[in-house]
Parts: sequence; C-alpha cells; structure tokens
Amino acid sequence: MPVLFLGHGSPMNAIENNPYRQSWQNLGAQFGVKWPKPQLILCISAHWLTQGWWLTAMAQPKTIHDFGGFPQALFEQQYPAPGYPAAARELAVWLRQPHSQQPVQLDTDQWGFDHGSWAVLKPMFPAADIPLIQLSMDYQQPPGSHFAMGQQLKTLRDHGVLIVASGNIVHNLRALQMGPLAEQGYDWAREFDSTVATYLQQGDVLSLQNFQQLGSIAQQSHPSFEHFLPLLYAAGAVDADERPEFFNTGFQAASISMRSAVWGV
Ligand code: ZN
Repeated sequence: MPVLFLGHGSPMNAIENNPYRQSWQNLGAQFGVKWPKPQLILCISAHWLTQGWWLTAMAQPKTIHDFGGFPQALFEQQYPAPGYPAAARELAVWLRQPHSQQPVQLDTDQWGFDHGSWAVLKPMFPAADIPLIQLSMDYQQPPGSHFAMGQQLKTLRDHGVLIVASGNIVHNLRALQMGPLAEQGYDWAREFDSTVATYLQQGDVLSLQNFQQLGSIAQQSHPSFEHFLPLLYAAGAVDADERPEFFNTGFQAASISMRSAVWGV
C-alpha cells in the first residue's frame, strides 16, 4: 500500500469543485487499478488531539463537523464509512505509545470522523465502503514520538491498510489573506514549504523532526503545530529509500500549503 500525506486546507475543499478536490477524486480512483483497494484506512488527522494516543473503535463512527462559519451544505455532509472495532482492538494492543510503552487506548463513544479525515476521504472514496479508523495524536509529546508512532505503522502497509495522514505543511490561520498572494503564498510560507519538501525528497527524517529549528519561518508557518505533525506519521511509515511524489503544490489564502505527498508509487 502507498502512504499518503494530504494537505486538507479549507473544509470547503470537501464540496467545492476545485483542483484540490479533483486530485483527491483522481487519487481515489487509482485504488483497484494501480493499487489494491484498501481493506482498512487508518487516518491521522490534525484535528484529533488527545492525552495519550487513541483509536476510534465504534462500529459506526459519527461524522463530526468541527468548524464554524461555513455554509449549511458543509454541515449536512456525512461520511458513513464503517468503523472496524475488531481491528482497532488488535491495533491497540500491537501499537505502543512511544513515551510509556503502554497500549494505545480505545475510544468507543467520544470521537468519530473529523473533517481532517472525511473532507479528503469522501472525495477519494465516495462509496464510503472501506472501514475507517482514526488514530489521535498526543499533542503533549515531542515530534520524535510522533515519528516513532509512524514507524510502527509501516508493517500495516503489507496487510492492506492505507495510511492517510491529513494536515498541512504550512498552516497559519492568523495570516490568511485573499487577493493576489493567496495562491502564491507568503515568502516565509514558500521557504518553509520548499525546505520541508527537500527534507522529504532527501529522506532527511531528522531535520523533519527538528523542524522547529528552522526558527522564524517555522514559527510563522505553525503558530501551533498540530497540522505539521501528521506529516511525521507518514514519513515514519515509509522505508528510508522510498521517495515521495508531490501533488497539489499550491497555497490557499497565502498561509496554507496544500502540498501533498504519496510514497509507494
Ligand atoms: Zn485542518
């Protein structure tokens, strides 16, 4: 199975007919052709932050509309993919939380599918017939722990599991700007985005984990870094000699990089 990092950007990408959504549709259509159809999707979303690591373990997870100020049409979106409680129970025992070596915890009644997962997976797999489990991120833990969790996911690729990490390589909601700069991105945003892309191309996973050492461009690109962390799971789940192919290399509102990557092509 390939590994995907998807820049999700605005929730409106879920329903707007734009090039980002079209690329998700095209990517999804390649499963069953270029790659096998996944037996399970494991999604790491920027929008599920917890203490410790958790897996969704409901049979029918609910669709969560975790945003405000968008049109009613977006709140009406549902993604009725099934959960897979038995697989979640297996995974929970097998995955170890990097800081404590404890099993991952099971969530049977709190979370569901947040828009970091359904906004990209609904265009990709509109039939919603592939079981979907979300893995949360412990935001208290350092980048290296998130990478270590990603490394544990690698062997799942040999068992029909599609790993989808959903965030953004640059994500600063305070600096959103429409107008001429919107699709081009701020200078600092472009610099951070291209530096990270180089790390990914070179397989430089140490620099990737130490992204905060890039100083001001890192701070401007991530006032908080929950949208960067999913990238570390994807980078951890690939072999050292696997190189990414990039797509959706553009910006939304000048301060959100949509750059996405697929490994295993
Ligand atoms: Zn987001």
